[in-house]
Amino acid sequence: MLQTKVTVVHQFDNFQAYEHAIEEAHNNPKIHFILNSTLTGFHGTESINSVDIKNLKSGEIQEFKTDGAFIFIGYLPNTEFLQDKLELNERGEIIADSGMETSIPGVFAAGDCIANRYRQVTTAVGDGTIAALSALNHIHKTMKETGN
Ligand SMILES: Cc1cc2nc3c(=O)[nH]c(=O)nc-3n(C[C@H](O)[C@H](O)[C@H](O)COP(=O)(O)OP(=O)(O)OC[C@H]3O[C@@H](n4cnc5c(N)ncnc54)[C@H](O)[C@@H]3O)c2cc1C
Repeated sequence: MLQTKVTVVHQFDNFQAYEHAIEEAHNNPKIHFILNSTLTGFHGTESINSVDIKNLKSGEIQEFKTDGAFIFIGYLPNTEFLQDKLELNERGEIIADSGMETSIPGVFAAGDCIANRYRQVTTAVGDGTIAALSALNHIHKTMKETGN
């Protein structure tokens, strides 16, 4: 039978989202919360029919019946190949200036992989536009300087 509710399993005892979003979710009778917990197992043959939920405080694991699971556990930028080449922060995000130029002159970065407060399609597109214009500027400047 198709479930008519969503259960959010969250590893902490509170959420870091905007207050109004948290309140809206708490007031929705179709959304339930299991806090201080994480998923440790998935069961089913052709599709999922249950998951194991571990309480991180007590260590207790309970089997929870469900029709599906959507996993969202944060961001990990795919920048390992840039380690020791470009300046990255402690989370592996690329450090870029306001013109999207990285620690190597002439190398530009944009979008979710850079150290930025907001991560949205619109901010990534804006970053990309700035990076493209900065790259064009860089090429023109270099051509002028070298006469090529
Ligand atoms: C669940 C979820 C919901 C979201 N909802 C919204 C929303 O409602 N509105 C909104 O504005 N934003 C939303 N976002 C954020 C938005 O998706 C991102 O901010 C945006 O996609 C960032 O664009 P990007 O081009 O920087 O990165 P991406 O869209 O992640 O694109 C990066 C691309 O680079 C490729 N790639 C990675 N490594 C390499 C490599 N080494 N070589 C070649 N290619 C590589 C990847 O495969 C990928 O195609 C959401 C994000 C998630 C995860």
